[in-house]
This record gives sequence, C-alpha cells and structure tokens, in this order.
Amino acid sequence: MGVPLSQMWTVAKYVLTQRIKGVERYPLVLMLEPLFRCNLACAGCGKIQFPSHILKQNLSPERCFEAVDECGAPIVSIPGGEPLLHPQMPEIVAGLVQRKKFIYLCTNAILLEKHLENYPPSKYLTFSIHLDGIREDHDAAVCRDGIYDKAISAIKAAVKAGHRVTTNSTLFENAEPERVRQMFDELAELGIESMMLSPGYQYEKAPDQEHFLKRNQTIQKFREILSAPKKAWKFNHSPLFLEFLKGNWELECTPWGNPTYNIFGWQKPCYLLEEGYAETFAELMSSTRWEQYGKKSGNPKCRDCMVHCGHEPTAVDQTFSSWKGFLKVASLTLFGSRKADKPLPAPANESVGAPHYTISDRELFQLPTLAEESSDEEVEALNLSN
Ligand code: SF4
Ligand code: SF4
Repeated sequence: MGVPLSQMWTVAKYVLTQRIKGVERYPLVLMLEPLFRCNLACAGCGKIQFPSHILKQNLSPERCFEAVDECGAPIVSIPGGEPLLHPQMPEIVAGLVQRKKFIYLCTNAILLEKHLENYPPSKYLTFSIHLDGIREDHDAAVCRDGIYDKAISAIKAAVKAGHRVTTNSTLFENAEPERVRQMFDELAELGIESMMLSPGYQYEKAPDQEHFLKRNQTIQKFREILSAPKKAWKFNHSPLFLEFLKGNWELECTPWGNPTYNIFGWQKPCYLLEEGYAETFAELMSSTRWEQYGKKSGNPKCRDCMVHCGHEPTAVDQTFSSWKGFLKVASLTLFGSRKADKPLPAPANESVGAPHYTISDRELFQLPTLAEESSDEEVEALNLSN
C-alpha cells in the first residue's frame, strides 16, 4: 500500500498547473497549527515552550478555513501541539475534507482510539502518528513510558476502522540506525500506508547548541538507516528527498512550499524559524526575503538544515519541472538507488544554531514542562483527556 493514485494525480496536476502559469513560488503543503499545547513534553519538541496563555488558545474552524482557502495548497498537514486536544478538530477536518484537501493529522496517538469515532474514514484524511523509534527509544524520546504501546494500539485500531495511517519519525544524533530499521520492520507489519522521516528540527528556542546533527552527520546517519531498504518499507517521500538525505542529490530549501499558519498568523519564513508573522498569505509571499534562507544563502541557521518541510517541496517541484529530476525519480522507482554513495561534502567550520533537547538538557537548562507553565485547571483537563 502507498499513497493513493488520486492524491498523486492531484499533486501532479497542481504542480504542473503552477509551472504552466509561470508561478515561481507556490505552496504545496500548508502546515496548519491550530494550537500549541500538548499532552506530552517530548525532549526534542520546539513547539510547547510558549507561556500558558498562548498554549490555551485554539484557532477557530473559520480561521483555519480562511487560511486554507487563501493558501490554496492541495495538502494540509495539521501538526501542533496535539491536534486531538482541539475541541473543534472534527469540525475542522470535516471542513477540509469537504474542500477536497488531503489532510495529514499529526498526532502522538494518546487520544486517537478515544476520538476515532469522530472522524469518518476518507481518502482525504490520513492520521500521521508520531513514532521516534522502537518501544524503548520512543518512550525515552517522548519522556513518558507506555506511549509506544498506546501508539501501536491506536495504529491498529485506525487501520482496522479503514483509515489511512502513516507514521512520522524525527531522528536526532542519538538515533541508532539498526534500531530505526527495526522500527521500520515492526511498522511494516501493521498495515500502515507509509512512513515519514526527518532529521531533527533546528528550533531556535532550544538552548542546547551542541547535539543537533550537522549536515555530514545527517547524511552518514541516513546512509546507514536507508542502506539496502527492504521491499516492505514504504516511505511517504519523493525518492529525490531520500537521496538528498543520503547526500546523493542536491536540494535547495524552498520554504514557501510548506508555509505555516498558526494563532500568530503566517510564520516567516518556515515551520522552524520564527522571524515575524504576516497577516495574510499574500503578504507572507511578498514581504519575506526568501533569498536570505536556505543553504546557498549562507544563513548559518539554514546551513545544517535538511528537514522534510523545507526540502520535500523542492523534490516534488524538481520531479515535475525538469527532465533530470523526472528521469532520476523514474530510475530510482524502477531500479532503486544502485550507484555508490557520493563522497561526503566538506564539513562546515562554524557551529551555529541547530539545537534539540535531550532529557539531560531539559534537566540541565531547567526547561519548563507544560505542567509547570499551565494553570492547575489546564493540567487537570489534560490529565483527564489522557
Ligand atoms: S507530541 Fe511531542 S513533539 Fe509533538 S507536539 Fe507534543 S510534545 Fe511536541
Ligand atoms: S533551510 Fe531549514 S531553517 Fe532554513 S528556511 Fe529552510 S526549512 Fe527553514
């Protein structure tokens, strides 16, 4: 099982239409963040550090629909926070299905089984389950025991109910390739549609500047993880993006391909960096100085970044806008990655940005947890919802 043909066709038609119209920069996936609060406090998360009055806020369904309509991207990813904590999430999803948007609802799955009946199965809706490793590694990453088992149980229930289900895994320097491959094997047996991967995000808010993967480390890690991939492993990525992760294909970031909308407005320039907000999508596109971002720009915040939300849209665009990209995808799809890996690029000298939390960093820097920053009522509500 893989991404349905109707979704592939919709995306291909959309991209080709943009190219024919001569649109240089177009959105492919809207990252719609309807809230920031969560019922977990994962070690690598850069989204839950807001003060409690921000964590309490929800985007209304109307604001979500306005953003989706204005943006026009064919795919809407709903990360967070934890979207299932939003009291109107079923209404938001129903409105997006009505608009024929392909939705990836990203969840840690704690509440999924409880809420499943609120979401009728649809080819437009996919639950994207956060899983960062096998049982021991995932529970350590999310800083709570038992979450892996909850996620696996929810995956089985969602698949059984006829839903499309994928997983999303964010990998940091402590990810052990053999154990990640073991996770792929375990997931392949559950009947999920596909898996998504990304190197850890370079959140500016995190104080630890040392543990984030540098570009060469990312490449080395993904070469080990993805070497001799098994037939049963299905990835929800362009083959070009996977080659990029292995250092065998060059992709420049196209941050406008995955614009982010949340309670503050349209986030500049991307999902990771917060360098101001625009009130409208049109303003985001016209007022952001896009040339200041991406590896080629020399911006130190972008130098080691290889995340999917910046580079997957580039891979999709290259597939449909150049013969070189199209033929490479055809060759990778038919024959796999058969060439020897390219030599690793020379490492950059400077070490800037690109952090992530580890459990010990959280203790070291005394980072607040949601429970510490929230009111008693909110904590109680979260605990009840668990
Ligand atoms: S599940 Fe973890 S990574 Fe996702 S929003 Fe919650 S705390 Fe952040
Ligand atoms: S390279 Fe990464 S940090 Fe820089 S704009 Fe792109 S996605 Fe954002």
